Amino acid sequence: MSQINVDAAEIEKFSQLAAKWWDKTGEFKPLHDINPLRLDYIDQHAHLSGKTVLDVGCGGGILSESMALRGAENVLGIDMAELSLQTATTHAAEQAMDNVRYRCISVEDLAVEMPHTFDVVTCMEMLEHVPDPASVIRACAKLVKPDGWVFFSTLNRNAKSYVHAIVGAEYILNLVPKGTHDWQKFIAPAELARMARLAQLNVSGCMGMSYNLLSKKYFLCDDVSVNYMMACRSMAA
Ligand code: SAH
Repeated sequence: MSQINVDAAEIEKFSQLAAKWWDKTGEFKPLHDINPLRLDYIDQHAHLSGKTVLDVGCGGGILSESMALRGAENVLGIDMAELSLQTATTHAAEQAMDNVRYRCISVEDLAVEMPHTFDVVTCMEMLEHVPDPASVIRACAKLVKPDGWVFFSTLNRNAKSYVHAIVGAEYILNLVPKGTHDWQKFIAPAELARMARLAQLNVSGCMGMSYNLLSKKYFLCDDVSVNYMMACRSMAA
C-alpha cells in the first residue's frame, strides 16, 4: 500500500463534510454548479457513451454519477475519504444506478492493480489537495488505455486566483468554507501541462471556468487565470 501521497488533514476536512455532498445549496454548491459545464467538456472530447470511466478523488460522486447518466457503461469512483464514499454509494443506490461503484484506494495503488484499463480518467478539483500532484498525474496516465482521455481541473496560482478563490470565494462570498484551499498548492496551467507531458500525456486543450458575480453562475471561457480544466490524451501506444 502506497498511501504516502495523502494529506491526512485534507481527508479529515472532506470527511467532516461527507453528509453534505448532495446538498446543492451547501458547502459543495460550487461543484454542483460547475458540474454540467465540466460534464459537457468531458463528453465533447471523450464521447462518454459506452465508455469505461475512472473518477479520481470522486468525493460524494457528483461527477461520477453524472457521467454514468450521460451514457458511460460503467464508472469507478475512488477517494481516500471513506465517509464520502459511503455517501456516494448510498446516493447511487437511491438513484438505482448499478453502473457506478466506489472504492477507497489511492490512485497510485489502483494504477498497479489495473493499468491501461479505462477509456476515460477524470481527476477534478483534487490535485490541489495532495502533497505530490505529479504522482497522481503519472498514476492517471498509467490507468488510462492507449489513446484514452484524461481530464484534470484545478486552480491557477497567481495574484488574481488568490483574490478570487481565497479572499472572494472563502471570505467575502462564502461560496466554500474558509480553509478549503491553500493557495500555495494551486497549479499553473504550464506546470500542469509539463507534468502531463512528463507522464506521456498529450495536452489537447485547456478551458477556463469563471464566476459571474451578477448572475451568480459559472461559465466556460478562454480565461484560465482562476479555475480551469485540461483535456489530455494518452500517448502510450
Ligand atoms: N472530484 C470531486 C470532488 C472534489 S473535492 C468533484 O469535483 O466533484 C476533492 C476530493 O479529493 C475530496 O473528495 C477528497 O477526499 C479527495 N482527495 C484528497 N486527497 C486525496 C488523495 N490523496 N487521494 C484520493 N482522493 C483525495
